[in-house]
Amino acid sequence: MIRIGQGIDVHAFCDPKDVIDTAEQFVTLAGVNIPHPVGLLAHSDGDVVLHALADALLGALALGDIGQHFPDTDEANAGLDSRVLLRHVYDLIIKKGYHLVNADITVMCERPKLAKHNLAMRTNIAEDLNTQIDNISVKATTTEKLGFTGRQEGIMVSAVVLLTQTDNV
Ligand code: ZN
Repeated sequence: MIRIGQGIDVHAFCDPKDVIDTAEQFVTLAGVNIPHPVGLLAHSDGDVVLHALADALLGALALGDIGQHFPDTDEANAGLDSRVLLRHVYDLIIKKGYHLVNADITVMCERPKLAKHNLAMRTNIAEDLNTQIDNISVKATTTEKLGFTGRQEGIMVSAVVLLTQTDNV
């Protein structure tokens, strides 16, 4: 038995006018703090990569979405480390008798450039999902300056996962 899941997440960048010290700003993507003149607006750490991935995992087993599991109205989730969230979600998957085959993630943004952070992002995800790094793909693309990602107003991420029943392995 195999199951496929898809997740999409978007976070907007902060208004540059509200940023006092651009040198200290960063975005957190797959647990990696990547320097960028403006951070992402979020109730949690704004890790748009891990949110899309967690939604894909939940979607594969029709377990709802991270908004239901981690409501942003709950103060306990303020500033939440999304790697904690991801590991919690993956625990649910394991308890349902499934585990990850592979994940393929596409990050859509003009900036920051992600190539030199790719290995660190994949390493974090592989660690959290207890799998080999070659089961985790992270790709980055621009949208040719079109749309909100092209105007550098935010980052969008799409994630697809394949799960298989643990008993069959
Ligand atoms: Zn999110």
